[in-house]
Amino acid sequence: MTTTYQDNLLDWLRDAHAMEQQAETLLRAQSSRLENYPVLKSRIDQHLEETLGQQRLLEGALTQAGGDTSLLKDLAGKAMALGQGLVGMTMTDEVVKGAMSGYVFENVEIASYTVLIAAAESAGDVRTRGVCEQILKQEVAMAQWLLDHLPELTQAFLARDATPGLTARR
Ligand code: MG
Ligand code: FE
Repeated sequence: MTTTYQDNLLDWLRDAHAMEQQAETLLRAQSSRLENYPVLKSRIDQHLEETLGQQRLLEGALTQAGGDTSLLKDLAGKAMALGQGLVGMTMTDEVVKGAMSGYVFENVEIASYTVLIAAAESAGDVRTRGVCEQILKQEVAMAQWLLDHLPELTQAFLARDATPGLTARR
């Protein structure tokens, strides 16, 4: 048995689509819970919009590459994200842990689109490569933003946590 370049590319595009469904669930959960960290919340909301756009781009790439969008693996991704979201909500420092998890998730996305770009190149699919390069830029920007803002977010959390009457966790 052999698998064509095209089949692997389509499979990984479906994986990416499931990942973006997971991203949507996680970002929505984080945004809806944040109350005292407006800068983080607004960056999350911006990336949520980008994530919805990425889902559309991937659906377009799948259709264009001859894939069947009815075979999408989204349910598993949603269930996984729900599990991760629930774990995060039990923490007294959920804003910090959430930002850390977000950074990890963005880096998984960066790795996924780096793989997809190489696979699209091998399959000779210039359009899909372009789409994945476009998405990769948004993931790199989000990962970098989270990393840049982790120190001030941590210090804001610590200051609130040390102040009577203020809620720090979210
Ligand atoms: Mg994404
Ligand atoms: Fe992302």
